[in-house]
Amino acid sequence: MMRVGLGFDVHRLVEGRPCRLGGVDLPHPTGPLGHSDGDAVLHALADAVLGAAGLDDLGTLFSDRDARWQGVDSAELLAECMARARAQGWRLANADVVIATEGPRIAPHRAAMRARIAAILGVEPEAVNVKGKTLEGLGALAGGTGVAVQAVCLLVHEGY
Ligand code: MG
Repeated sequence: MMRVGLGFDVHRLVEGRPCRLGGVDLPHPTGPLGHSDGDAVLHALADAVLGAAGLDDLGTLFSDRDARWQGVDSAELLAECMARARAQGWRLANADVVIATEGPRIAPHRAAMRARIAAILGVEPEAVNVKGKTLEGLGALAGGTGVAVQAVCLLVHEGY
């Protein structure tokens, strides 16, 4: 049996925050605002994994009103979500991500993000793809005010 999962996340990009996306620290003067480290890429991936496994969502499992998750490394959250899916018999076949932003350039860091995400998820880098898109100067995220991320993943159940 296979199941697909979809995740989406948006964070503002503000001054004075490290720019961590896809588990990689990017050299950029603004970074994602958030209760955790604000890594919208890992948040979207976590929701994709949880969605495919039928396991609630990131905001329910790790509430942004819970002081335990203040400033947490989102890699820990994604790893925990994948561990929960794995405990239910699910294995990750692949994950794919689109990062839409006019803030940091994504292309120079794609390989590092793929490797980092794959390590967090416990799969080979070939099973993870990352793509950056600009917004053509349109909409609320134009000019680098934020980052929006879409993620999908495919889980395969070992027991079927
Ligand atoms: Mg988020």
